Formats: sequence, structure tokens, C-alpha cells
Amino acid sequence: MTVHQNLIAGEWTGANGVENINPSDTNEVVGLYAQASVDDTKAAIAAAKAAFPAWSRSGIWERHVILKKAGDEIMARKDELGALLAREEGKTLPEAIGETIRASQIFEFFAGEALRLAGEVIPSVRPNIGVEITREGLGVIGIITPWNFPIAIPAWKIAPALCYGNTVVFKPAELVPACSWAIVDILHRAGLPKGVLNLVMGKGSIVGQTILDSPDVAGITFTGSTGTGKRVAAASVEHNRKFQLEMGGKNPMVVLDDADLNVAVEAAANSGFFSTGQRCTASSRLIVTEGIHDKFVAALTEKLKTLVVDNALKAGTHIGPVVDERQLKTDTDYIEIGKKEGAKLAFGGEVISRDTPGFYLQPTLFTDATNQMRISREEIFGPVVSVIRVKDYDEALATANDTPFGLSSGIATTSLKHATHFKRNSEAGMVMVNLPTAGVDFHVPFGGRKGSSYGPREQGKYAAEFYTTVKTAYTLA
Ligand code: NDP
Repeated sequence: MTVHQNLIAGEWTGANGVENINPSDTNEVVGLYAQASVDDTKAAIAAAKAAFPAWSRSGIWERHVILKKAGDEIMARKDELGALLAREEGKTLPEAIGETIRASQIFEFFAGEALRLAGEVIPSVRPNIGVEITREGLGVIGIITPWNFPIAIPAWKIAPALCYGNTVVFKPAELVPACSWAIVDILHRAGLPKGVLNLVMGKGSIVGQTILDSPDVAGITFTGSTGTGKRVAAASVEHNRKFQLEMGGKNPMVVLDDADLNVAVEAAANSGFFSTGQRCTASSRLIVTEGIHDKFVAALTEKLKTLVVDNALKAGTHIGPVVDERQLKTDTDYIEIGKKEGAKLAFGGEVISRDTPGFYLQPTLFTDATNQMRISREEIFGPVVSVIRVKDYDEALATANDTPFGLSSGIATTSLKHATHFKRNSEAGMVMVNLPTAGVDFHVPFGGRKGSSYGPREQGKYAAEFYTTVKTAYTLA
């Protein structure tokens, strides 16, 4: 098997490849991927630093053409890249192709943004002086990504970084290097100058930490766990650098007595269990008012019986495997914790076998949970959901907001009054009405509050807040 190498200063480099294993079939090696060392990472940072002056002054048409070419190639190869994603991460094929299409759309969007860069020219408060306000790229951006969106998250960080004239050192999650390698290869062939985009695959403790420790990295954009996010924050404060964190969630979905039962059940099943519950926007707390509680639990349980857990590539699979053995253990540990805490296991809870060896877990539903239980407070990041019974809307809202996180939230209701009140008072960055808590557009801001996020929003035109710095220039007429 050929080793997929790192890209440093425009050259593919690195010999020893680590196996990328398919979680739907652990006998299958998806590919071999080189591991960058501390020195490789330092070389990548130096290359990005050297490339910055020219790239930051490159024409917007050059940036547009490269980003557009990348978006077009990703779209043209959506089936092949989607299958690669499904094989390395375990998302079902339709979900994986959908994520790949989204990556393409993100490149298309930022190809357009490159042509829309603008500043402001305004009069000074002093006579005969003009003021110009412009945005400039920051410099070298360190991009550190998690395993759960192997192509969309790299796309939504790399595309704006390049669009606004930054150079990049990109470290994907060790578990899922294949899609990252593919998009770096696409961008390299699309004509990026040497050193503008560098790929350093490998361990967070080695490659990621070297990026954190470098005084030459002007900004870090990170998506991942709260623990690693805190390390990024501490190291970045040390270096007086800009940073942006997207971390965990414990997203609530409120179901009110007046909800359309089908809408509520479909949204809850999607929010909690699709993508194997491994979405930061997944809902793992269903907060249900008394009048609809029993009907809702019965209907959701019936729905869960119809969901097929199997190999991600198999037609008809609704839920693929858990990403790896470690995450599977986390999920099953939490299932035991939930039982011990006194929640009632209403459905699932078992690890299951399929034709191919993989990390298969039944969708798991707890009822009679309280909001104080660990399964309601800590992020599990698997297909494990708790139902919390509440008296009325006011208690539902208070329970929804009683969490250290604040990424997304949802409400199922036919009441305009409650939907409007919830949109205004939910302490989350993204609020959904009669929709799953996960599943967002690529052209609008993405991000949360409280323990979920730090720094400016990602995606859409709001991305400029992080990837640029503002300059104010005064000129005597
Ligand atoms: P981790 O924090 O473990 O990893 C995220 C990235 O950080 C990986 O590339 C990892 O490397 C790297 N990393 C690990 N240690 C260090 C270090 N010391 N210095 C620098 N980088 C390091 O999270 P997971 O990948 O396990 O992702 C799951 C978590 O991400 C969940 O908690 C989930 O909620 C959150 N998430 C949040 C999202 C959001 O937008 N809010 C979206 C997606 C996920 P490696 O793993 O290769 O060693």
C-alpha cells in the first residue's frame, strides 16, 4: 500500500504510514498515512510563514479560481470521496456524500467571498483627513480538527483561511486522515503556491502541541473536546494569539404538549441518533412535558425499532458504527452510569454484531432521567439519549438552559408564542423550531455559547471576524 504523505512547503514527504482502519469492518485498512514529527511540524510552520507575505498580497482572482476549482473537483468526486469518508469514519453513505457536497459548497461560497472583500472609506472627525478601514489576513493559521466531520470541518476552516489571505498548517484528527489528505491534494493541484497550505498528519500530543507552542502561529482554529480546547486557549494566551474554539454540547430538545407528534419524533430520532449521535449538535436531552410524554416515548421507541444499525456502506443502513473502540467504551460506560443513576433503559443499550466486524451499538434511549444525572450533564458523543419529564414550558426552558454547554437547542411545538419565546430565551448559539438540533446551512454563522464555544463564529461571512485583523489608516488630503 502506498503511504499518503504530508505536504510541507509544496513537497509530499514522510515514509512511515499508520493504518487508517474502517470502523464498519476492522479487517479493512482504508490506507496508510504518514506521521509528522515535531521537526516536520516546525518545517511546515516555517514554510507557511515564508509563504504569507506573497499570498496575503495575491490577487483576489487567484484565490477565487483556486477555491472554485477545489469546490468543483470535490463536487465532481462526491460519490468517491463520500465512500472514503464512510469507510474511515463510519457515517452512512448518504450522510457521507451529503457532508462531501457541503464541503464543496463551502469552497464555492468562499471562492465568492474572495471577490467580495471590501473595506470602508469614511471621513475623519478632523478636516482634510480620510480614514480607510480594511481587513488583512492574520498570518499563519493553525487548523486542528476532530474526527466526526472528516471533510466538512477541514473545509469550513481551510476555505476562509485561504480566502482572506492567510497561510495554513493543518493537523487533522489522527483517526480520519483520508478525507483531509484528499482535499489538501485537490487544493495543491488547483494551484496553491508552495507553503500556503501544509498538511501535518499525526498525533495531537506531538503535531498539535507543536502548533500550540509555536510563536509563529498567528491564529488557531480548533474543533474538538473541551479538554483540548482549554489547552489551545492557555497556549494561545501565552503567545498573545487569536484563537477560536468549537467544543462539546449537551443540546436540549424540548417537546411540548401541543407538538405535532410525527414532527417531534422525526426531529428527535434525527438529532439523537443519526451520524451515530457523533455530532456536536446532536441532541442527547429530550425535555418533554407531561401531557405528551408517554405518547412521545412510545412513538420514539417504535421509530427506534425501525432504524437499521449496520455497515456504513450497506444500502438501508440508518446508523453506522461508533468511530472506534475507545469511543464505544465511553458510550457503554455511560450506559452503565445511566442505569446506576436510576434512569430507565427504555430501548437498546447493547453492543451488537454484524456480518463485518465493527463497533456497532444499538440506539439507546433512557427515560425517567433527571437533569442532574451525569448522562444529562456530560457529553457522551454516541447514540445515547435521555428523556427528562417536565411539568410545563417554563420548567422545560429552565431545564434546557441548565447546562454548562450552549451550542444548539430545539423545540417541537405548534405554538407561535412558545416558539418565539424559546428562540429569544434559549441560551444556545443555534436554535431550531420543529427541526433537528443538528443539520445547519453552510452560509450562515455556526457556533455556540458558554462551555461550547469561544471566539468569533465560524462559516458564512461571519468567518471574516476570526480570519482577519482590522486596519484603520489615516491620510492627510
Ligand atoms: P479531541 O479534542 O480529542 O481532538 C480534537 C483534535 O485535537 C484532534 O486533531 C486531536 O488530535 C487534537 N489534539 C489532541 N491533543 C492535542 C494537544 N495536546 N494539542 C493540540 N491538539 C491536540 O476531540 P475529538 O477529536 O475526540 O472530537 C470529539 C469532540 O469534539 C467531542 O467532544 C465533540 O463535541 C467535539 N466537537 C465539537 C464540534 C463543534 O463544532 N462544537 C464539532 C465536532 C466535534 P488526535 O486526535 O489526532 O490525537
